[in-house]
Amino acid sequence: MNVATPSPLTAGAPAIDPAAGARGLYIGGQWLWPADRPAIAVIDPSTGERLAQVPDAGTPEAAAAVEAAATAAPGWRATPPRRRSEILRRCFELMSARAEDLARLISLENGKALRDARGEVAYAAEFFRWNAEEAVRISGDFALSPAGGNHIIVDYEPVGICVLITPWNFPAAMATRKIAPALAAGCTVVLKPASETPLTAYALAALYEEAGVPPGVVNVLTTSTPGPVTAAMLADPRVRKLSFTGSTPVGRALLAEAAKNVIGCSMELGGNAPLIVFDDADIEVALEGAMLAKMRNAGEACTAANRIYVQAGIHDRFVTELTARMAALKVGPGPEAGTECGPMITAKAVDKIERLVDDALGRGARLLCGGTRPEGPGFFYPPTVLVDVPGDAVMGGEEIFGPVAAISRFETEEEAIARANATEYGLAAYVFTRDLARGLRVSRRIETGMVGLNRGLVSDPAAPFGGTKQSGLGREGGAHGVLEFLEAKYIATTL
Ligand code: NAP
Repeated sequence: MNVATPSPLTAGAPAIDPAAGARGLYIGGQWLWPADRPAIAVIDPSTGERLAQVPDAGTPEAAAAVEAAATAAPGWRATPPRRRSEILRRCFELMSARAEDLARLISLENGKALRDARGEVAYAAEFFRWNAEEAVRISGDFALSPAGGNHIIVDYEPVGICVLITPWNFPAAMATRKIAPALAAGCTVVLKPASETPLTAYALAALYEEAGVPPGVVNVLTTSTPGPVTAAMLADPRVRKLSFTGSTPVGRALLAEAAKNVIGCSMELGGNAPLIVFDDADIEVALEGAMLAKMRNAGEACTAANRIYVQAGIHDRFVTELTARMAALKVGPGPEAGTECGPMITAKAVDKIERLVDDALGRGARLLCGGTRPEGPGFFYPPTVLVDVPGDAVMGGEEIFGPVAAISRFETEEEAIARANATEYGLAAYVFTRDLARGLRVSRRIETGMVGLNRGLVSDPAAPFGGTKQSGLGREGGAHGVLEFLEAKYIATTL
């Protein structure tokens, strides 16, 4: 497939150029491809073929990106909030105008169904609209101390240069969820997107420039050696913030690296969401919610329902109807019309799903649909339903990250809560019941940062997204998002 082919124009707006990534690293407003650097191949998961290539930055380029962010920092910090707000609003408008092209690019490099990619673009763009509004609402405090001898002035300042690292499963939204609040706060950033899906990040960099983001305020680099490249950036004392979205093991390693210079960290890490359906649930609502929580992005979401617990009285009907819906999904290349479940990101991801399904079957789970990896090309795995998944199945403790609904039966509310909480993760959970008192009671007792109560989707740019336990530190979105990029400055004075 030739990605240099211009994509169709969208409603008169200039097209997103899918080959933008091939232009190079985006540092200080320049596209650079250092002569001695090799390339990283970007693979189309729907075909296994090479789509494009992007430069493979080393530590000198990482240093240059931090330098560019540092050079741009005083000017961006001094830019009036209203002006910053207008630029962020323009990013929202340009993303919205080019939504279809962006969705196609995401679908191409990530493999997700076009309908999911469209949803991602709308979600990603909203972070600019929301933070355009936040940029002009950052206010401090002024108070008289209780003893009366001191006035307390609290000012909020941009934290400094930020390193942002994002995963492949939401190539646009995971980046804008960080960039928009960072820019609203007055920070400059270096973004390192995932190697599997860098084209969206580079296409968006060109869009930010067009929206008026000054050179050096956002820098983007790709690398096949994220460990040393990130360590080099974090070693620069001007970097004061690391915001990471990705797996828990990599998050742990980055926390240790950031500790060397006592750098503030926001961590959006892995999940293992339980989805609980009580006997008194509205079954239609529960089925729709379960399909969304399980199959958005073909299960490749940190919030994906990893363990589905269904109460005995509703179990068999729920399982029959969920299996019918899963089996009816249209599997195909992400960008193809009508596709509901695209390929996984890599062959390795399919290997992992296969291993987890085989393990569960070996321990006594029963297969109701799917379960067989198709012949290539592409990295496909079919929508799969397993029931009677035992508590010791490996998938109960690991993210499946694929289209596999793992169902088990429960009897009592206490049992459901205990099983839901039996994990080191604490990102999202879902609860389905018509009894509001029970819904709130169970939601409070579940140890996660977010609960979908009779809803299969929690993500909302206006809400604080994030996890407890080993799913992360800090929150993105809502009023909390911008605070992650601000430092409180307290001035004591006697007036
Ligand atoms: P990953 O392997 O942890 O990679 C995430 C990012 O970290 C990528 O950009 C990766 O670069 C980079 N990276 C890998 N090793 C690194 C190192 N030693 N130092 C610095 N950076 C490093 O995760 P993934 O497979 O891309 O994404 C899936 C995971 O993300 C899942 O666990 C999912 O639950 C989690 N996630 C969480 C949220 C949330 O909001 N909580 C949202 C989405 C995804 P390369 O691509 O070059 O390896």
